[in-house]
Amino acid sequence: MIVMKFGGTSVGTTDSIDSAAKIVAAAVEKQTQRDGAEESPGVLVVVSAMGGVTNTLIDAAQAAAAGDETPYRDARSQLLVRHQVVAGQLIEDGVERAGLGRLFDNRLREFERLCRSITVLGELTQRGLDVVSGVGERLSAPLLAAVLRANGVNSQFVDAGEVIITDDQFGNANPLMEATPARCRDRLLPMMQSGIVPVVTGFVGATEKGVPTTLGRGGSDYSAAILGAALDADEIQIWTDVDGVMTADPRIVETAQSMEELSYEEVAELAYYGAKVLHPKTVTPAVESSIPLRVLNTFNPSHPGTRIVEKTRQLHYGVKAITAVRELRLITVAGRGMIGVPGIAARTFDAVARQRANVLMISQGSSEQSICFVVPEAEGDAVVGALKVEFARELAQNMIEEISHQPDIVIVAVIGAGMKGTPGIAARVFNALGERNINVIAIAQGSSEANISLVVLQTEADEALRAIHDTFELGNGAD
Ligand code: ASP
Ligand code: MG
Repeated sequence: MIVMKFGGTSVGTTDSIDSAAKIVAAAVEKQTQRDGAEESPGVLVVVSAMGGVTNTLIDAAQAAAAGDETPYRDARSQLLVRHQVVAGQLIEDGVERAGLGRLFDNRLREFERLCRSITVLGELTQRGLDVVSGVGERLSAPLLAAVLRANGVNSQFVDAGEVIITDDQFGNANPLMEATPARCRDRLLPMMQSGIVPVVTGFVGATEKGVPTTLGRGGSDYSAAILGAALDADEIQIWTDVDGVMTADPRIVETAQSMEELSYEEVAELAYYGAKVLHPKTVTPAVESSIPLRVLNTFNPSHPGTRIVEKTRQLHYGVKAITAVRELRLITVAGRGMIGVPGIAARTFDAVARQRANVLMISQGSSEQSICFVVPEAEGDAVVGALKVEFARELAQNMIEEISHQPDIVIVAVIGAGMKGTPGIAARVFNALGERNINVIAIAQGSSEANISLVVLQTEADEALRAIHDTFELGNGAD
């Protein structure tokens, strides 16, 4: 059995919904051929809202709370038209189309009512926002199910509130790992066994009492993994708008290419360093059940995409991909008085944590004369200010000589689980950068050895990415 998840761009227009439906129809056909006609096709579909819809809904609700009723009124009519146009173009059956039109209208009326009460209250709670922001999936899933039926696939829409049971952390709810698999099996297996392809709303769930929740932005991937794990799928397919996961950002590194295989660990590292891939939380259910994931392109369905599995083949250098995190600031706490004095690092990071700043990288030389770390540029001033207060006494006594900072820096992360125990990787990176006169300001390697991260100047970052990509021959069919 496979889970096929379609993201916002994959269901963003009439053409893409048409492609998505054809892809599902082909998968159903293939499963049926393989398993024999009397077996159920074993395909489950999970769908995001049409591209941009979730943002429109959230913006409208926020405007409503601030007393502006125009955005939600506009959103209601605009969303009705957008969904109806697709239905009009892809569904011939008049009865089916009329039923769908009523469903859209009801859901959007409900959305309007909600926004009106948000305006009256003048307040938007996270709980209220979860009801509003889940409306997009509650429109796209019935639409896709109907388009599938129009393509000859026996399909039925299912609201994930019935199957993904969560706690009440609105906006970022966690699935309850006992209730959810049981509900999934009870509700979805009989459907699938009778040959129906369920189309489940991504992103949303409900508490045990039935109060709507959401799994966090971009949560449809997570929905797919939760459902795949609950039903013990053979594969979870994430259908998006690129040919899988790339070795680097192709806008910067021209020779970047899609990777055949990637490990769960590598995906997590890539996501941490800003690559637009699956969120680590998303893959957790798949990792725990050892279910492979595959990232595929709705707009180029014959491309094999990237398979994400527990362990991958060892490649020549062990390096898989290069990524960059931008708009960062490097902060250094330095002074001879720090040598052998316990607690400096703890106090440093306590002060940083009090500013709620996210630390992306830390490095301390063994001479202990300095600690440097990287935070987002937007948090830089607050962090430097907090450190000056924290270490006021040490600064006055010259135990700490300076708290310096450098804006406009970038972390370049070299990623690959195969680097573990492979000597010479760092040397190769430095050589490649040295040859192009790119200065490395700081370096860190995680103990997992699945990444090496370097700090370089913003102005040299793109060149650094290209140099490293080249030196490891990532664009030359290395994968
Ligand atoms: N529609 C939701 C969002 O935009 C969930 C998703 O697309 O995965 O965040
Ligand atoms: Mg989305």
